[in-house]
Amino acid sequence: MATLPPKSMHQGPLQITEPSPRRGRNDLRRNLVGLSRDELKTALAEAGLEPFRARQIWQWIYWHGVADFDAMTNIAKRARERLAELFVVARPEIVTEQRSVDGTRKWLLRFPDGNEAETVNIPEEDRGSVCVSSQVGCTLTCTFCHTGTQPLVRNLTPDEIVGQFMVARDSYGEWPTPTADATRMLSNIVMMGMGEPLYNFDNVVAALRIVMDDQGIALSRRRITLSTSGVVPMIPRIGEALDVNLAVSLHAVSDDVRDALVPINRKWPIAELLRACADYPGARNSRRITFEYAMLKGINDSDADARELVRILTPIHAKVNLIPFNPWPGAPYECSSNNRIHRFAEIVNDGGLSAPVRTPRGRDIAAACGQLKSESVRGRREKVAL
Ligand code: SAH
Ligand code: SF4
Repeated sequence: MATLPPKSMHQGPLQITEPSPRRGRNDLRRNLVGLSRDELKTALAEAGLEPFRARQIWQWIYWHGVADFDAMTNIAKRARERLAELFVVARPEIVTEQRSVDGTRKWLLRFPDGNEAETVNIPEEDRGSVCVSSQVGCTLTCTFCHTGTQPLVRNLTPDEIVGQFMVARDSYGEWPTPTADATRMLSNIVMMGMGEPLYNFDNVVAALRIVMDDQGIALSRRRITLSTSGVVPMIPRIGEALDVNLAVSLHAVSDDVRDALVPINRKWPIAELLRACADYPGARNSRRITFEYAMLKGINDSDADARELVRILTPIHAKVNLIPFNPWPGAPYECSSNNRIHRFAEIVNDGGLSAPVRTPRGRDIAAACGQLKSESVRGRREKVAL
């Protein structure tokens, strides 16, 4: 990995292009990252290792962040050699790491089949939220989202999802797992990167169970937020399986407008979506569901829209995140003016709902909502055109 100059020495965003060591394509060893505890036990038993080794190896991988079997010092040398013959502890390959002037970091990661996805860390005063992707691209085609225009789509596997968070922890050197939550630099996961997590339900659940395991990364479910465009039948299922915080990409208050912005609305319209939200565990009392609302000039940003938003969300324990639209090349929308956004926020606040305006982060490295992967896809197109 290239050494970084101290932050004060550079003014603009920093891009590191030196790739991390690559796992050979012919390397058939199984990756232990992404296996559930039971799967790990079975894999180790097949290799002739005692069942209690699973617990030790789990802690080495997810508590200590160790990737090299030789560093697993409580395991006998013979057993370590056997492990190294059969298995690896692999993260996705880092193609680039970019650092924004505002502290945001973005990683373009490549998986063994050559597909790529992006992960972002957004540091704030008291937390660091790692925005994790669930798919390469997205099968949905929300008209304001750049990810939705990308042709390549596949589900990410549990190791590829957990691996994103591990890459971020590597970058900050945050191993072993901090024992006090307050001292974590990377304290939250938001499933808000590329892809629709509820269309990759099993892998997302498997990955988040690993992240939540208290003998490893040990992130509490209260520090995990899953964002969905509104896959209504899967909302109760994610509540049952994980009970993490829920965020919903609403973006409109009428079905006409939402049909055009978030086409999945034609299948599951607003009323059905809100019913599923009202039934989400905890939604009736302490826990609030976040409704994301991208501010699009002349489309969804009128005073009447704001009042309607209050009306439809009041029965639900809700808060609203107002996201200034992040433009991308060829986008068919513009961001609402600052004045408009603040007036809209005022109406929603006056209506009794918290409605912070999200400051776009990492704009200089295209790390903001809806921009992920755009640079790399554009780079490839340019290369093809040459
Ligand atoms: N697929 C999931 C999660 C990823 S998108 C979902 O749609 O919820 C994360 C958030 O960014 C969503 O609310 C999405 O609607 C929003 N978003 C996408 N493109 C955007 C853009 N160009 N500007 C602002 N927000 C955008
Ligand atoms: Fe997919 Fe979410 Fe983008 Fe819609 S907003 S295209 S669901 S990533």
